[in-house]
Amino acid sequence: MPLSPDRVIRPHIEPSESYDHAEPDTNGHEPVRLDWNESPFGLSPRATGALHTFDTGHRYPAMDQAPLRHALGEYLGVSPDRIIAGAGLDDVINTLAMTIINPGDEVIIHEPTFGVYRSLFSLHGANVVNVPLGPPPDFRLLVDDIIAAVNDRTRLVLICNPNNPTGNLFSREDLVRIIESVSCMVAIDEAYAEFSGASHTELALKYDHVVTLRTLSKFAGLAGFRVGYGVFPTALMPWFRRSAPAFFNISAPSAAVAIASLGDLNHLRVNAERIIVERERLIRLLNEIPGVLAYPSATNFVLVSLPVDDASPIVALLARHGLLVRHFSHPHLVSCIRISIGLPAHHDMLVDTIRHQFESAAQG
Ligand code: PMP
Repeated sequence: MPLSPDRVIRPHIEPSESYDHAEPDTNGHEPVRLDWNESPFGLSPRATGALHTFDTGHRYPAMDQAPLRHALGEYLGVSPDRIIAGAGLDDVINTLAMTIINPGDEVIIHEPTFGVYRSLFSLHGANVVNVPLGPPPDFRLLVDDIIAAVNDRTRLVLICNPNNPTGNLFSREDLVRIIESVSCMVAIDEAYAEFSGASHTELALKYDHVVTLRTLSKFAGLAGFRVGYGVFPTALMPWFRRSAPAFFNISAPSAAVAIASLGDLNHLRVNAERIIVERERLIRLLNEIPGVLAYPSATNFVLVSLPVDDASPIVALLARHGLLVRHFSHPHLVSCIRISIGLPAHHDMLVDTIRHQFESAAQG
């Protein structure tokens, strides 16, 4: 008798459409990845050194990742006892979900936002409630609507600040108003904090229902090593520690590279500054093209509205020049592309291609 999935699969898990991620047609060009918000600079010198000298792969990592959590705690100015780490921030968010979500609980998010929230919390059986952001160009957080959406079943309000993919930073006043109006957990995803000039670790220190979430994927250039972390409430640490995976799912070489990176902060801060300068240059160049609107960004990417109904043909056109950018199906974003900040020469190619496309469209 064939195995029926509903006999073995948890009922709220939707099957994945495909395991294969179709690679776009780059017309034989080496792809330039401007689609995943990675760092274009590679590892810092100390991180490279740590990777090359790592020779204890036959040993387990430190049981509680104490050296890594100390380095992360020192970086943020918090006690390592409050840090939950994971194999990327996605994994830390999973630990958060594992610990607080029962099937049927509600989680409030504000779309458009990071797509992993919806898929990950639904996997845990949560009812994901969307309180949409205001329309472009401001993409405002609708604070009163979020507060009004909280009810007895709400376990978490999750704010992405600055927000992916819109790139904007919400105000501290908005965050505090939500935090002070609700009694459920509030998590603030600060994956892009180092490019934004703002971070709210102090809110996690002040309020015992607030979690702040961070990653080394972006500003530290460690996306492939998978190191994320968060500052969690002291009183709840025994439960979060209980649900976190052994070794926090971080391999020994990843921990070694992460610790070495945190010892190279000057280098990483200079890189973040270069990205910010290049981001502003790219925004300026794009905004010189008639009909094109690059939104302000507090991140290492830029959301750009193009004078088309649907930007997917432009995404395909850029791919054929080897330039990979992201497209989203959200109604406010169909005419937009999201460009990660990479190297100036790649942006020059991209701007030329877009300019050429819309100048010839205007003439044609
Ligand atoms: N949060 C946000 C807002 C992100 O954009 C990303 C990655 N794109 C993550 C979390 C996950 O980061 P990590 O690589 O640490 O899993």
